[in-house]
Amino acid sequence: MDSKERSELEARLREEFERLNRERFDNSIEDYKLRFSKSSVRTHGSINLETKTIRISYPMYEQHGWEMVAQTLLHEMTHALIHQQGGHARHTKRFWNEFEKRGGVRDRIDVKPTAPYVYACPTCQQEIERIRPMKRPWLYSCIRCDRNYNPKHRLYLKREKGQIKLEC
Ligand SMILES: [Zn+2]
Ligand SMILES: [Zn+2]
Repeated sequence: MDSKERSELEARLREEFERLNRERFDNSIEDYKLRFSKSSVRTHGSINLETKTIRISYPMYEQHGWEMVAQTLLHEMTHALIHQQGGHARHTKRFWNEFEKRGGVRDRIDVKPTAPYVYACPTCQQEIERIRPMKRPWLYSCIRCDRNYNPKHRLYLKREKGQIKLEC
């Protein structure tokens, strides 16, 4: 994907977003940045509810065509909708109901929440992501600031990203 192809695809993605928003969501979805991602090989797409960015897998587009792009976009927009309504950013029953109600076809898109726990060093702000919560984070300190355990640089739970970013 060269830069010309990228800008053409992203313009098409913008049109698709606007069309879906109008036809399926009553224009209720907030504005999102829309990107193609070359590196998402294992996922269809992702949504970051904090930076308001939706990414669509370019390899998926190459292999399955535009129809899957539109389906993935609809999937991510359903996450956006539920987030706006204050719901959980997960594949709940409510999620699938809303998705199917809007023409989504539930298929091989499997659940893959990545590294929902983000710990950080209070000194250098270095972030460490974990799939599971650390049992005793206070027993760990930042190795960038001190190779030995040093309570001055003890890690703390910065946020639970599970509610913020999803790979789908
Ligand atoms: Zn540090
Ligand atoms: Zn999802």
